[in-house]
Amino acid sequence: MPETQRLTSQTSWILRVSESKANYWATYAVDFSLMLFFIGWDGFRLGYGVYAMAGMFALGLLVWTLTEYCAHRWLYHWGFALTRSGHDKHHDDPLAHLAMPWFVTPLLFLPPQLLVAGYYGVHGFSSLLAGWFLGFIAYSFMHHSLHHYKLSYSWFRHLQSQHRIHHALPETNYGVTMRFWDRIFRTEFIKK
Ligand SMILES: [Zn+2]
Ligand SMILES: [Zn+2]
Repeated sequence: MPETQRLTSQTSWILRVSESKANYWATYAVDFSLMLFFIGWDGFRLGYGVYAMAGMFALGLLVWTLTEYCAHRWLYHWGFALTRSGHDKHHDDPLAHLAMPWFVTPLLFLPPQLLVAGYYGVHGFSSLLAGWFLGFIAYSFMHHSLHHYKLSYSWFRHLQSQHRIHHALPETNYGVTMRFWDRIFRTEFIKK
């Protein structure tokens, strides 16, 4: 079997999952459960203080905003063929229900969490991950809303037009929930 055909047959079931509507909504339930699990780990299992947890949670949210920019710019528009092809499909058909398969986030995040916070008992790491996951969930829902809903709030309409510009000019406006990192990295679309 030629290399490209073998790659296609190996990855086609992943693409089928990522294009299903059930998977699209299941990712929210899985990611929200992971977030609660991480909060529970720091709060109940390790007995970490509430204020310290809140601080690490906020830091995780902040880290997410940079992740959102970097993943969109370098993973979805430039990186691996699999992530790029999924995102290309979104650019071709913005209303399709496309998402990473639901099992990707637990497979990527549970092992390091169980190692760092479970085996080594490091306090705060799980709260940091929980904040990051809230950012991820908020981003996913915001991106969905920008394509599917019409809201009259001016901040929402601004984000919506910013994201529409990204779909037309994919080298600009990588941020979905905010413009901040586009301004820092000088990729914000500026009307001439
Ligand atoms: Zn989009
Ligand atoms: Zn894009």
